[in-house]
Amino acid sequence: MAKIIDGRAVAASVRAGLKAECEQFYADNGFRPGLAVIIVGEDPASQVYVRNKEKGCNEVGFYSEVYRLPADTTEETLLALVDKLNKDDKIHGILCQLPLPKHLDETKVILAIDPSKDVDAFHPENVGKIMIGNYSFLPCTPAGVMKLIESTGVDISGKECVVIGRSNIVGKPQAMLLLQKNGTVTICHSRTKDLAEVTRRADILVVAIGKADFITGDMIKEGAVVIDVGMNRKDDGKLTGDVDFASCEPKASFITPVPGGVGPMTITMLLQNTMTSAKNHLK
Ligand code: NAP
Repeated sequence: MAKIIDGRAVAASVRAGLKAECEQFYADNGFRPGLAVIIVGEDPASQVYVRNKEKGCNEVGFYSEVYRLPADTTEETLLALVDKLNKDDKIHGILCQLPLPKHLDETKVILAIDPSKDVDAFHPENVGKIMIGNYSFLPCTPAGVMKLIESTGVDISGKECVVIGRSNIVGKPQAMLLLQKNGTVTICHSRTKDLAEVTRRADILVVAIGKADFITGDMIKEGAVVIDVGMNRKDDGKLTGDVDFASCEPKASFITPVPGGVGPMTITMLLQNTMTSAKNHLK
């Protein structure tokens, strides 16, 4: 039987630390770390994420601004807003909620955000810094996964780490962070031959595919640490991960549930990045 990694508890403890840090920051400097979130259009999932980001800011005492723009917003208007926020001293973190409506070029928008305020760590300058291990911001979801692994007390050094998924926002940076902790890292994707043969080698398995209950108990090693990044909506509306919890939990040593695992960590790490940015802007 695995120990369940309680993402809500780990997130609450990081947020409590951030709240105390924010009060000290305010006492010392007379202003609060500030996060600006831009959302374009009405995508319901994005609306929820943005509300949660706003709530997270309130919880830890940050200043926040949310810009809700109509779906037909032009690229020119969006880029002008990003430019204004880049120059705004009250704002230390800027994020534009993705996906954007099809007529807007996401890459252009990411490139327009000042890398020193890019708290999502999507700008190529920040991606490059992660590669060389000299970064200000870590991408939020992989950083959250690292905190969860840390919470288990399992040392990553020398372990077989397998990441399934190679997206720019999860899989690739996740592999890099595990490598920086001296894991022996393998990245799998849709062209991987005999996926189960690779996943069965994993002491630490991080799954970010986007397919409900895809990883089953026969695909994992006895005693593995299993981190499920997946968030999939089933037909009945329930949220489920990429890992079949029922068959993996008896074999794993630690496992994250969905919901209540990686999800709560992502926004928490965004808040952490905003704190870091505010401190960097003092320098
Ligand atoms: P993505 O961009 O769609 O990438 C999915 C990856 O899975 C791709 O690299 C793909 O391989 C690989 N894949 C697909 N089918 C596969 C198969 N049969 N075997 C092996 N690999 C396969 O997704 P993402 O943005 O990384 O997100 C992944 C999941 O995490 C989604 O469920 C998403 O909702 C969730 N997510 C959660 C959070 C959170 O805060 N909890 C944050 C971000 C994402 P190819 O590259 O070969 O196509």
